[in-house]
Amino acid sequence: RQEGWLDRRLRALGLGEAPAITHAVDHVDLQVQPGEVVGLVGESGCGKSTLGRIAAGLLAPSEGEVRVDGQDLAQMDDRARLAARLKVQMVFQDPFGSLNPRLRVARIVGEAARLHGLTDAAGEDDYVCAQLERAGLDPSLRHRYPHQFSGGQRQRIGIARALAVQPRMLVCDEAVAALDVSIQAQILNLFMDLREQLGLAYLFISHDLGVIEHLCDRVVVMYLGRVVESAPVEELFANPRHPYTRALLQEIPRIDARRAQFAPIRGEIPSPLSPPSGCHFHPRCPQVMDRCRTEVPQLRGIAIRHQSACHLDAL
Ligand code: SF4
Ligand code: MG
Repeated sequence: RQEGWLDRRLRALGLGEAPAITHAVDHVDLQVQPGEVVGLVGESGCGKSTLGRIAAGLLAPSEGEVRVDGQDLAQMDDRARLAARLKVQMVFQDPFGSLNPRLRVARIVGEAARLHGLTDAAGEDDYVCAQLERAGLDPSLRHRYPHQFSGGQRQRIGIARALAVQPRMLVCDEAVAALDVSIQAQILNLFMDLREQLGLAYLFISHDLGVIEHLCDRVVVMYLGRVVESAPVEELFANPRHPYTRALLQEIPRIDARRAQFAPIRGEIPSPLSPPSGCHFHPRCPQVMDRCRTEVPQLRGIAIRHQSACHLDAL
């Protein structure tokens, strides 16, 4: 695709390039309630990051709607759309790649808030200090540059930058995956404290079962651009229904589950650019039937708040 506003915006924010190919996300209906923590899981290439970027307003879907507080972004005027986009902020895996190395932390954290009128030039310094404190970083370090911080501290800078625009929801894309385990725990605790203090909602994209099981209220499982299962977290772990979810959760001894990653699944994940017909999972599914090769299974309710998209559920 052509360079567009997203590339320019990402560059302006110091967030680097947009992905050259955006993986298809197909018929996905995802809602996150205020204060809810939704986990989004699946192998890489399944569209999780694309969906996260769409939710954060960094990518516009070619079809469909993104609603913030019930309002469709596409129907808003530019000013309202910008304000709505601020309500959903992204926290990235690589805080270093997402922080402009030439800017001091004070500017990284304060700039967007000032541009959007959440603070003024006179109040900006105090405002920045307050955001850094909320993110657990010593405000006296605010005149340093990103490279002068550790990975965990840089992630706190990224979080302070997100908080500075007063979001209602954070989209965390593998936000702790690059950190040491002990630092991961600190950052995850910070996310949960912020949820309590600010009522923040989260869309938590992770391949780490421990992170998902301990943080999330609800889990959404994606495969090649489609949601295949969605359930409250206890229900999903106790009662996975879709063969893909079962494969993901399979053969992980419970005692190791806290730090385990999802199980490898037989067969290669097909290219998202030319997914298999019918049920995308059919070439890898141990329970594949004839109709799976031609008919797309619809996501349907199988229990309270539990949905799955598999022809086995329609038998
Ligand atoms: Fe397997 Fe068929 Fe269900 Fe797809 S629809 S997960 S191929 S049984
Ligand atoms: Mg990804």
